[in-house]
Amino acid sequence: LRLMVCCGTPCVAAGAEAVMAALRERLASLGNPADLELVGTGCQGPCSRGPLLTMLRPGQPEQVWEKSTPELAVSILEAELQQTAVPDANLLPADWPFFRCQTRLVLANSGKIDPESLDQYIGRGGYESLAQALHEMTPDDVCSGVVQSGLRGRGGGGYPTGLKWQLVRKSSGSRKFVVANGDEGDPGAYMDRSLMESDPHRILEGMAIAGYAIGAEQGYVYVRGEYPVAAQRLRKAIKDAERAGLLGSRVLDSSFSFRIDIRIGAGAFVCGEETALLASIMGRRGQPRIRPPYPAEAGLWGCPTLINNVETFGNIPSIFSIGPQAFNAIGNGKSRGTKVFALCGEVVNNGLIEVPMGISLREIVFEIGGGLANGAAFKAAQTGGPSGGCIPAEKLDTPVDYENLQALGSIMGSGGLIVMGEQSCMVDVARFFMEFCLDESCGKCVPCRTGTVEIYRLLSRICNGSASQRDLQTLEQLCRMVKDTSLCGLGAAAPNPVLSTLRWFRAEYEAHVGGRR
Ligand code: SF4
Repeated sequence: LRLMVCCGTPCVAAGAEAVMAALRERLASLGNPADLELVGTGCQGPCSRGPLLTMLRPGQPEQVWEKSTPELAVSILEAELQQTAVPDANLLPADWPFFRCQTRLVLANSGKIDPESLDQYIGRGGYESLAQALHEMTPDDVCSGVVQSGLRGRGGGGYPTGLKWQLVRKSSGSRKFVVANGDEGDPGAYMDRSLMESDPHRILEGMAIAGYAIGAEQGYVYVRGEYPVAAQRLRKAIKDAERAGLLGSRVLDSSFSFRIDIRIGAGAFVCGEETALLASIMGRRGQPRIRPPYPAEAGLWGCPTLINNVETFGNIPSIFSIGPQAFNAIGNGKSRGTKVFALCGEVVNNGLIEVPMGISLREIVFEIGGGLANGAAFKAAQTGGPSGGCIPAEKLDTPVDYENLQALGSIMGSGGLIVMGEQSCMVDVARFFMEFCLDESCGKCVPCRTGTVEIYRLLSRICNGSASQRDLQTLEQLCRMVKDTSLCGLGAAAPNPVLSTLRWFRAEYEAHVGGRR
């Protein structure tokens, strides 16, 4: 019997540690029976329903209790010990759509293992993909496998991952580097944090496979400064993997050596941009630079550098465990595999989800998310954070993938998905994201430095009812100018929330300009 208490950050905030303590105490009083395992896991998914408690009996489906308490947890354990019916209070339905509609590859271990246990990661097939790559494949084969899978960058750009690996592999240089971007900073997004906290070895394994493929001996994980638990778990995972011969010199008794170090960000959103991130790792001011040269040719200390998001690396072990073709069979159009989203806002089931590319927005919001809280009508979903846009109700059946979201004026982004109900003012939403962008602008280029401030002022005037029709025209012109002329992605995408709300909710802007707030 295995009892798994979700110890992801939201569940800890809701009291998971007290649930763990109560179960630990009861098991100790029983002499810690060998056939009863208590595991504190990473994120199990439905974060707003924590603390989650999952029971797994051999050969039987899992049972999951929401909002567990120490008393409820102990009563479940007692019932199981006495072979009586377990309490059904707070027991989630066996076919709950939140779990049923998901396809979990990257999150396959999240909520199933103790993130600090290398043995538990290995017990679920961990590091087998690395062994397969090192012992059965050439570096070119590994790159080809990633190309065949159709994986694209999960940090927002959507660039084909295998192609990027091949570019870095072919770049000349005696030293090469692998960098995992864990500097997630979008409001409402916590996919990367959860992955780093819940399954750190998966990221290390993906990076080691990448190191072998491109010919690198050193990797860095750049972790957002606000994520201390993620950094601590990654550090422990690196130490454990080195001790077990899975990282360091002569990995798995091969001729391949690969070390990984952690670098901690200092709170600048712009350091999620790849050239700013690399500058920060080198100890310089975290500001973007003009590309080319791209990091694939000249990255860290002028050497070819492969930089991918942590979720992209999290996909790599799955690609080799299920096979590139099987991975490629999931998805829609040019968007293959799955995507992790942080589903939040006015939706009933807030939480971390992983869905096949091409699933409709309707299924995410109304099946997995359980619809809107308090029976509110759906108004819009914001994807892609401050670089994304708002999708209106009439587009709820749009397949969620890179191309279809872009056609609606939004982007996949790293995976923030905020659901808004009928009471939300879309001009206010656009102003919120613009305020975020002007705060986070690094100030290096004029269009972004001054343009975001001017756009924010115009939006404020529109919100308080003092703007004219001419202001509305100026707003549109300014947004297009900032989009077309900013140096990096932060400025180039900052107008997206304004442009997309102007496209789908123009009547609200007109109403504000007409004097109604
Ligand atoms: Fe800095 Fe903004 Fe220019 Fe990017 S677009 S370089 S964040 S000022």
